[in-house]
This record gives sequence, C-alpha cells and structure tokens, in this order.
Amino acid sequence: MSVIYNFKENIKKEELDNVAQNIKMGKVVVFPTETVYGIGADATNKEAVDKIFIAKGRPQDNPLIVHISNIKMLNSIAEDVNDIEKKLIENFWPGPMTIILKSKDILPKNVTAGLKTVGIRMPDNDIALSIIESAGVPIAAPSANVSGRPSGTKLEDVYDELKDKVDIFVDGGSTNIGIESTVLKVEEDNTVRILRPGKISIEDILNLGINAKLDEHIFKDVKEGEKVESPGMKHRHYAPKTKTILLEYNSDDSIMINKVKEYISENTNKKVGIICFEEHENEYQKMGIKCITIAKKNNLMGISKNIFSLLRNIDNLDIDLCIVEGVEKKLIGTAIMNRLIRACEYNIL
Ligand code: AMP
Ligand code: MG
Repeated sequence: MSVIYNFKENIKKEELDNVAQNIKMGKVVVFPTETVYGIGADATNKEAVDKIFIAKGRPQDNPLIVHISNIKMLNSIAEDVNDIEKKLIENFWPGPMTIILKSKDILPKNVTAGLKTVGIRMPDNDIALSIIESAGVPIAAPSANVSGRPSGTKLEDVYDELKDKVDIFVDGGSTNIGIESTVLKVEEDNTVRILRPGKISIEDILNLGINAKLDEHIFKDVKEGEKVESPGMKHRHYAPKTKTILLEYNSDDSIMINKVKEYISENTNKKVGIICFEEHENEYQKMGIKCITIAKKNNLMGISKNIFSLLRNIDNLDIDLCIVEGVEKKLIGTAIMNRLIRACEYNIL
C-alpha cells in the first residue's frame, strides 16, 4: 500500500525524514517539481532505478534525468564541465533546465540508457530540493505518468495510474510551470542545442550571449531507425485516446475561428470539442462545439500550466474528436507546441 504525504502548506519534518529513508532503501517516490511531478528513486541504485522503468512502462532506451540539490552532487556524477556549461548552470539553476554532461561511472547503466552522458537538473521547488538534500543522493526522476500519457501536473491526475507501483506520494499541489524542463547540450563549437524545449527558451539563452539552436526533431516525427540526440523524441507521447487535432496559431483570430467553422461544416456527423482561448469561446459555442477554455491567447504561462491536465481530461468529454488551439512559437510557446504536435500525432488543421 502506498501512502500520501500532504506538503501543500508546509514540509513536515518527520514525513520528510521518512521519504528520505525510503529513497535510501531503494523505494520509489512521486514528488512535485516546478515543472511536472516526478517519479523518483536513488540514481546510484540500479534496482531502485529499474522500479521506475517498470512503474512507467518506460522503454529501456530512454534515459532518466538525474535531480540534484547542490553542486557537490553535480561533481559526483558528471565531469569536464566547461565554461559555457557553467554559465548556463549559474544562470538557470535551480530551474527548469536539464543539461547533458559527460557521465561519471558511479551511475548505473540503466539511468543513462547506456549512453556516456547524463541529463542533470537542479529543480526550483522546495519540496523536491528538501527530499534530495535529506536523502543525500541524486534522484533519478522522469515525469510521473505511465509512458505515452500526458505528464502529471497535480497528484490527483497521476495517483490512479501509479498507486500500485509507488511507495510514497508527496502532494505539493499544482506545479507552477506545467511542462517538462528544457533539455539541452553544449556542442563542440560552444553552440547550445535544445533537444527538448521548455520554460528556459532559446531567447533566454541567446540573451546570455550564447549561441543556440533548436534540434531539428522538435516539430518533426522521428522516422523508424533514424538517429536522434534525445531518445525520448522517438517515442509516442502525450496523446489522448480521442482523436486530437492541432489548430495552427494565427495572430488574426478570425482566421483561426473560420478554419474551425469550415472543419465543422465538413464533419457534421461528429461530436467535436475544442480546447480554446477565452477570447474564442463565444464563437465556438455558437457553432455548437463543446468548449474547454484554457487561458487568454497571449497568456503562455497560463496555457503551459494547464495544458497537460486538459489533455488528460479529453477522454472524459464524450466527444469523437478534439481540436486544440495552437500558440505562437515564441518563448515557452515553442515548448507548448512541441508537446501539442505530439499529443495530436501530427494532425494539423
Ligand atoms: P522525462 O524525464 O520523462 O521528462 O524525459 C527525459 C528526457 O530527457 C527524455 O526526452 C530523454 O531522452 C532526455 N534525456 C535524458 N538523458 C539524456 C541524455 N543523456 N542524452 C540525451 N537526452 C537525454
Ligand atoms: Mg516524460
């Protein structure tokens, strides 16, 4: 039986000690970070890490992000950190940046999926930091969800699918950012390659005077057998069971609305729902579509915070098909669109 600890208001010392004890004993714990919930175990314990892969049904070739609470831990698991990497760390940690570094031998092979590199991050969340600090070991923690499902941004969303597989759940309320960290690596020519976009955007990195580019797979499906830098990109992700279509962003509201109108007139036999901006709700309601508003069109942080929870709920809406309004590909909007294009399995309107 798993237990739930409620740390929403405050971190309870005795329960925190118990979480740390359990981590050290090789148990699996779900806990909040500022991005999404993580499902974590001692990164230096192979058997404990195996339990994460089993609980998620995660393919063995998809490496885990290792979470740390101080720079000493970083130096215990990674080596050869260069000046550009140090600058990124100084500017973005604690925070939603996972940096790929050369791995030391202390980590078992399952954490890194046999790669010579490891993805490391220091989360900006007091509960996560306290758990890592109290356990005194780096914690491997992918997103808390069964593989392929949208990531969990509140405990209620993931409890049922993980309750038989996890020892302790720590509830910290809704996560602030709502989508997973930016995964990046510094290439030989000192350019940052963003493998997975997140809250730390290409604009943020360029503002530091560091060259940066987006990996070519961010908005593209990965073909069978094609090599990718970030193995996670290969796998099916985030998709609801209900067919979901991405409506491309346009700064002109009437262009977005008219596309939906046209689609509805060609598909009169289908019950259609839409995850839409508040400004468009009235128009879609007039068309007889079930509307789930997400936030205002330009409120990218509001959209990011709510998107996974709404994607998870699509299958409960009693509709045949769901349209999701796309956002502008700037700042965290790039990350939102990277998740949406996969959730919609490349169906674009
Ligand atoms: P998740 O923890 O489920 O949010 O996924 C972690 C992401 O980080 C996946 O897309 C992984 O492929 C990526 N990742 C983790 N470690 C590495 C690494 N050493 N090299 C490249 N990508 C990595
Ligand atoms: Mg994930």
